[in-house]
Amino acid sequence: MSEQKVVIVTGASSGIGRAIALAFGREGHQVIVNYLSNANEAKEVVEEIAASGGQGHAVQADVSSFEASKNLVEETLKVFGRVDVLINNSGIAKDQLMLRMKEEDFDAVIDVNLKGTWNMVKHVTRPMLKQKSGRIINISSVVGQIGNPGQANYVASKAGVIGMTKTFAKEFGKKGITANAIAPGFIKTAMTDKLDDSIKEAYLRQIPLGTFGKAQDIANTALFLASDSARYISGQVIGVNGGMI
Ligand code: NAP
Repeated sequence: MSEQKVVIVTGASSGIGRAIALAFGREGHQVIVNYLSNANEAKEVVEEIAASGGQGHAVQADVSSFEASKNLVEETLKVFGRVDVLINNSGIAKDQLMLRMKEEDFDAVIDVNLKGTWNMVKHVTRPMLKQKSGRIINISSVVGQIGNPGQANYVASKAGVIGMTKTFAKEFGKKGITANAIAPGFIKTAMTDKLDDSIKEAYLRQIPLGTFGKAQDIANTALFLASDSARYISGQVIGVNGGMI
């Protein structure tokens, strides 16, 4: 195992976040398993991490809330004493063509995906600057790079995450903190299971590798970005999309 790290994974009760939390747990790290509403699933993730040799601790927090995000980081420092890696994974989608998209659906998606990322980085900045080390890994999306009909809110949030990531890399680089984004393509999770079969088939036609990705593909990339092997990588967007762009 590489040196033991304290890792916060937001939205770790399901899908990609769950796979990331379990992957860090298997490597023997200390993992904060954040969730919004699925306490039982978060508890299961913590138990699985313990069974595989790591240490997990579940914390409920709505990352769209400045105060709740602050509490999440404070709880991390209380339980594990430091924070080495922040993985901003929590995300929601409320898809609708522009003509029909409601203002509240634009605001809700921006609040979780974009403001939630800002909130979390805001609160880990001080401890990471003090430590003079840290890794920030933000989960964006391929659609934040290329746009997608019916997702003006989601695309804006994910493109915003890329812009913020590049800015964090420039602001924090001299203090030993890297910031990178992962831009997944179409990954099989609860979020994508909701889509109509016709939409899934249309996505599949755009993927040169011919299959959807797995949550584990994103977890592997997060492990790499948090490792010593990635020490000189910052401000980058790593596409994990089967060759889509
Ligand atoms: P998912 O299975 O729906 O999981 C979303 C996670 O986010 C859940 O753990 C959920 O917690 C949590 N969450 C939602 N709102 C939250 C809030 N306000 N505060 C804290 N946590 C919150 O989604 P997924 O497919 O794994 O997606 C994970 C990330 O990857 C998202 O950022 C998504 O945009 C991105 N992404 C996914 C794909 C894909 O194809 N699946 C592609 C590109 C990017 P509870 O379950 O406890 O409510």
